[in-house]
Amino acid sequence: MITRKKTKQVFVGDVPIGGGAPVVIQSMTNTLTTDVKGTVRQIRELEEEGCDVVRVAVPDADSVKALPGIIKKIGIPLIADIHFDAKLAIASIEQGAAKIRINPGNMKKSELTELAKIARRRKVPIRIGVNSGSLEKHILKKYGNPTAEALTESAVEMTAVFEDVGFTDMVISVKSEDVLTTIEAYRLLSRQVRYPLHIGVTEAGTLLRGSVASSAACGILLSEGIGDTIRISLTDHPRFEVRTARFLLESLKLRRPGARVFSCPTCARTEIDIIKLANAVETLTAGIDRDITIAVMGCLVNGPGEMRGADFGICGLKGKAALYKAGRFVRNVSPKEAARELLREIRSGV
Ligand code: SF4
Repeated sequence: MITRKKTKQVFVGDVPIGGGAPVVIQSMTNTLTTDVKGTVRQIRELEEEGCDVVRVAVPDADSVKALPGIIKKIGIPLIADIHFDAKLAIASIEQGAAKIRINPGNMKKSELTELAKIARRRKVPIRIGVNSGSLEKHILKKYGNPTAEALTESAVEMTAVFEDVGFTDMVISVKSEDVLTTIEAYRLLSRQVRYPLHIGVTEAGTLLRGSVASSAACGILLSEGIGDTIRISLTDHPRFEVRTARFLLESLKLRRPGARVFSCPTCARTEIDIIKLANAVETLTAGIDRDITIAVMGCLVNGPGEMRGADFGICGLKGKAALYKAGRFVRNVSPKEAARELLREIRSGV
């Protein structure tokens, strides 16, 4: 059982971050924010996957204008991601953004005071998102490289700017593309501040490499109780970011109820296409908010044994798939229909 470090709690819309709340999963759209229809479609898909809060890039005034149209059509709070221009952050708050993410490396501290005052008045939290690739010049000059100490100092310096005007609804991140630097930076930061921490590896890479790097860093941090919200950054569709975060939190028993799919690695005894079936089951059951286990097995060798311990299961037989519920055989179905039939059984109750 993991003991989480105590942090301050902030609210992104109605979603609490920190203060013992479940670790919040977030992702970021890769559509044009000005494409309201496409962005809404993608966010809804992320909601289905289990995304709790979503971030969109706001690079210009047209993107700000698009925010209300997006916000009214989605079911989770929206975070505006702002670089360079504090005025865009203020305008995004006025258009309904539930949280702002800024990068201290590319914003003038003098411009942030006004933002802090408005955010405080509107009760909108701000994430100070420090990245190894965009550290302030004076920090880089002092440390030479974007070390864990440099990332942490940048973040702590910026919290002081906001605290000076009485703003404390902050979330902080100190991401590096280097896994070990990321881990060290968050360890240092968690000893210095009580603000909730957003954890992740920046520019982690493609689906497989990025998932592994992110899971290594975030898994170690979470196991030490560090991390209140998580984003897995992947060079792929953001649905995989949410899915990877979910799986990681499930593995560490930090996730709220949901479906856990166990599946066999397949071998020469495999009777049906288990790889396709396990993926289909995982996708179809992503939105389930009950704690259930599902076993997807390729043959009779381990199948019936696994079925006994799972709430639901599919076992591959010659040319067909056997459905199980609470350890009992239900019926045989065609392998093609197996995932949908299983979902029907789940929906009809445990
Ligand atoms: S369950 Fe059957 S098919 Fe799957 S790995 Fe085990 S022996 Fe192979």
